[in-house]
Amino acid sequence: MIQNEEFRKYLMIIKSISIGKTKIPLKKPFITALRRADFVEDIVIQIKTQCGKIGYGSAAPTSAITGDTQDSIVFAIRNLIFPRIKDKSVLEFENLLNIIQNSCANNTSPKACVDMALHDLFAQYCNIPLYQFLGGTEKIIDTVNTISVKEPSEMAKDAIQLVEEGFKILKVKVGLNADEDIVRLKTIRKAVGYDIIVLTDANQGWTPKDAIKVIRAIESENLNINLIEQPVKAWDFEGMKYIREQTGSFIMADESCFSPRDAFRILSEKVADGLNIKLMKCGGIYNARTIYSMANTFNIPCMAGCMLESPIGLTAMASFVSGRQLIKFVDLDPIYMIKENPIVGGARLENARIVLPDKPGLGIESLGNCVEFICEIK
Ligand code: MG
Repeated sequence: MIQNEEFRKYLMIIKSISIGKTKIPLKKPFITALRRADFVEDIVIQIKTQCGKIGYGSAAPTSAITGDTQDSIVFAIRNLIFPRIKDKSVLEFENLLNIIQNSCANNTSPKACVDMALHDLFAQYCNIPLYQFLGGTEKIIDTVNTISVKEPSEMAKDAIQLVEEGFKILKVKVGLNADEDIVRLKTIRKAVGYDIIVLTDANQGWTPKDAIKVIRAIESENLNINLIEQPVKAWDFEGMKYIREQTGSFIMADESCFSPRDAFRILSEKVADGLNIKLMKCGGIYNARTIYSMANTFNIPCMAGCMLESPIGLTAMASFVSGRQLIKFVDLDPIYMIKENPIVGGARLENARIVLPDKPGLGIESLGNCVEFICEIK
């Protein structure tokens, strides 16, 4: 028996990593108060074990939010994270996840990338899909879809198109100019009617005074905006708390909530009404579970979000969402925003809903032709 256990441990020893870059075109440019993008340009990894199992991970270089770039992600994985887990067995799962988090300060996207690949490997070892490994049962996940910041009339057109395609919840990006943002939200609500749920995200673009002005306007006009995300700067916890106290709207912390420590502060100081959890901000599924558990303890709802991520990262986050009742909104729309999904296996978009794979782990069968590999470490 012990011999068998030793053998299984040996088979799951981490032997090598391949690191590559994706360039997956978007249907149309993605524009927020912070940035513009035309492609999903993630770093993708394959971690191989002694027995030849492959764990996949991806990291989004969202320098405006996380500070991570393609080069910094590759550097951190290659020099700071992977050397610490190489030649260890995936069966030391908890220990390895801790090693990743303690490998360096910050660098949450590369940490999330490696954490994802280890979750993929351990769920493959258990021979079950990742969503089941994480305790979920639901394999169909509804996602919000996002409308980029543009002229109000163009945004209304985008909104109508998404509604016609079957999306029932829209997230409207604002935060460039408070007065124009009121017009944006009014125009979109008028265009889609009241059967559609409309959320809005200022991506830190307002001052507390701007935010209160916009929120009071949308409340007095009964625009029924269900949620206001990250109205002010990430560091401005006091400002966000002030907005929450001065208005009746639901305030969601996104860029203010990176680590479990941030989440603890937001929850205990009552800074926001909800937390947006993203793997690239918190460093992976390991910390996402901690944040979710804290939100659960405080009975505070969550959103599950993402950066402009490859279908690998989206599959990981959708797997995390499955079965977690306090996740009230799921924002994993890059799976819709890409022109076509080059990855074979993983989550798929069917009738405006995300469908998780039945295969073990993340269920990725091949990367298709979307990855250019840049290095391998053995
Ligand atoms: Mg956001």
